[in-house]
Parts: sequence; structure tokens; C-alpha cells
Amino acid sequence: MKTCKYCKEEFDSKQKVNRCGGYVNVCEDCHWDRPDPDANTPTIRGFVTGSGKMAAIQILAFESTDDADAYGKAWNNNSGWNNRRSGGLNDVSFVKIGENIGNSNHKGKM
Ligand SMILES: [Zn+2]
Repeated sequence: MKTCKYCKEEFDSKQKVNRCGGYVNVCEDCHWDRPDPDANTPTIRGFVTGSGKMAAIQILAFESTDDADAYGKAWNNNSGWNNRRSGGLNDVSFVKIGENIGNSNHKGKM
């Protein structure tokens, strides 16, 4: 049990952090009232793959830095663009917020 630094209520810090992240000394109510700057802000990462003609950039928003790191690890374990859906990437939750796929090699049609 911890005492919230805002409302002085006791709360289960472990459960709170598991559920919504943030600081261990801020209760869940106060957490949502005044969000921690570090908590539950999406981690934005850009991943570049391929080279030359087929270079592509994916910009992804992750639920946490841990997810972003897990994705980056899985990404690095895969050999390239065509393998992006294998090797555990689907185990990581993320939202794709942007994509820029090089298309100079498509000869007029996608
Ligand atoms: Zn509180």
C-alpha cells in the first residue's frame, strides 16, 4: 500500500501501476485527474527498412516504451520489409500512424 501524494488516500500501488502506469505514489483517481507526463503517452517510433528503390518508413505509436522496444527487437530480427508480419511483431500492440513506402520501382502501377 502507498499513500497518494495528492489526496493522501491509501491505495494499492502495484495494482494501479499495472493497470494504468505512472507513478507509484499517485492513486488511480488522481492519475486520471492529472496525468503523469510519462504515463500512457504513446511512444512514437519510426522504422526504416529496405534500401534504395524500396526504402520504406513506418511510423508507429506504441502503448508504452516497452512495446516499442519489443517491436524494435522483433523488427531487427526480421530480414526486411517482406517479413514484417512474421517473427513476433504481431504480439506487440501498436497503432500505425504513418507509412511512406518507396515506389520508384513500381513501373506505373502499384
Ligand atoms: Zn489520489
